[in-house]
Amino acid sequence: MLLASPRGFCAGVERAVETVERALALHGAPVYVRKQIVHNVHVVRDLEQRGAVFVESEQDAPVGAVLVLSAHGVAPSVHENAQRRSQRTIDATCPLVSKVHAEARSYAAGGFTIALVGHEEHEEVVGTRGEAPEATVVIGSVAAAEAFTPADRAKVAYVTQTTLSMDETAEILAVLRRRFPAIVGPPKDDICYATTNRQNAVKEMLPLIDLLLVVGSGNSSNSNRLVDVALGAGVPAHLIEDAGCIDEAWLDGIETVGLTSGASAPERLVTGVLRWFRERGVEQIERLDGVVEDIEFRLPSELRQPARPAPAAV
Ligand code: SF4
Repeated sequence: MLLASPRGFCAGVERAVETVERALALHGAPVYVRKQIVHNVHVVRDLEQRGAVFVESEQDAPVGAVLVLSAHGVAPSVHENAQRRSQRTIDATCPLVSKVHAEARSYAAGGFTIALVGHEEHEEVVGTRGEAPEATVVIGSVAAAEAFTPADRAKVAYVTQTTLSMDETAEILAVLRRRFPAIVGPPKDDICYATTNRQNAVKEMLPLIDLLLVVGSGNSSNSNRLVDVALGAGVPAHLIEDAGCIDEAWLDGIETVGLTSGASAPERLVTGVLRWFRERGVEQIERLDGVVEDIEFRLPSELRQPARPAPAAV
């Protein structure tokens, strides 16, 4: 069995989870969280047990509530709604997503039509699009890039979702650059370091394995892309929430299993999968070397103050 590196939590997810924990320490329960703070069922359940209340919309949280906004970012209209409801927002948007929002605002201000490469329904894309809805067209495939018809072909810009497949995005951007030679975009696409590193780690592992297991939730974009990387290379792969989801039939005729995890999956779930294999007699587990990640993001400014002191004992 081979274990990919890097894997699991990225700096943006670490920051988002800590944001909810610190908000609970500062303000006490309940702390409301708009949408899943990160796309992982286990993380959400843990925080729920500690007093976080997850809601779909700012409209579902009470007037005046403390409301954490998830790592995926929100449209400006969400901030406006929250302000109208006197909610005290704490913005856990990953700084790398905020950077894409800033790019979108800047291109819209410059009069560009923005090709937003990403998945239409994904929360991050909904938030980024919200920066300039009239000027933004979501491009989810090569076919959509071919069909894209901006008002002014000379004024086209692109930005991308942070958690896409590097290969698919490169194909889409190649089509856009061919069709709109004057297109402008960020110096590098917006796919983040964590997505890039985890996909590269899987690519390096693929020649050595017969099956890939990816620990992550079904709505986690970057986890799904890790499965796609394997499937695209002809290696069977499955996304699993945790060890309980492994189907022993998948292992028939398989010699070497590769294991990785998405950027929102806690390491203890990977440990659980390793335990599952050890209990079935797998002794050889090799941890592959990979890029060492040392990125850290500061907590949101609303939280950079000491935690509330614990009540005095009686
Ligand atoms: S996957 Fe990338 S963009 Fe998303 S939270 Fe992690 S570092 Fe930020």
